Amino acid sequence: MDYREVEGTREFLARLEHGRDWRAQIEDFAAEEDVDAAAFFGLGAVQDAELLYYDQSDQQYYPERFDEPLEVASCVGNVSLLDGDPFAHTHVVLSRADGSTVAGHLDSATVFAGELYVRAFEGTLERAHDETTELDLWPL
Ligand code: ZN
Repeated sequence: MDYREVEGTREFLARLEHGRDWRAQIEDFAAEEDVDAAAFFGLGAVQDAELLYYDQSDQQYYPERFDEPLEVASCVGNVSLLDGDPFAHTHVVLSRADGSTVAGHLDSATVFAGELYVRAFEGTLERAHDETTELDLWPL
C-alpha cells in the first residue's frame, strides 16, 4: 500500500443544483475553488443515472444506464486531477421505491436534489496510468 499524509482545513457543504449533472457539478466546484485533492460524501436523489462497471479481465469500463428516479442512498468519492483537470471519482448506491439497489462507479446522473460534504486537502494529486490495472490511479 502506498500512502501520503495530507493536511487540509477547508471544508464545504454543498447543495447540488436540480437538473444538472451530479459529477460535473462537483468538478466545476473543485475547479472554481482550486481544489486539486479532496474527499467527499453525499446523498440525495437523481432522475436517471449512468454507472460504469470496470471489467477486470477486459480492463475496460462498460456502461449501464438507468432511466428512472433513484435515491442516492450513499455517495462517496474523491477529487484529484486527471489530465490536468479536477476529476470527481464517484461511487454510489442508488435505491428504488421497493428498496432494491443498484450501485457502482457513477459516470453521470441528473440531480433531483443532492447534499454534499467536501473535505479539501492541501497540494495537488494527479492521477497516473497504472499498467497492472490499466486504470488511472493515485501515484502516492
Ligand atoms: Zn470507480
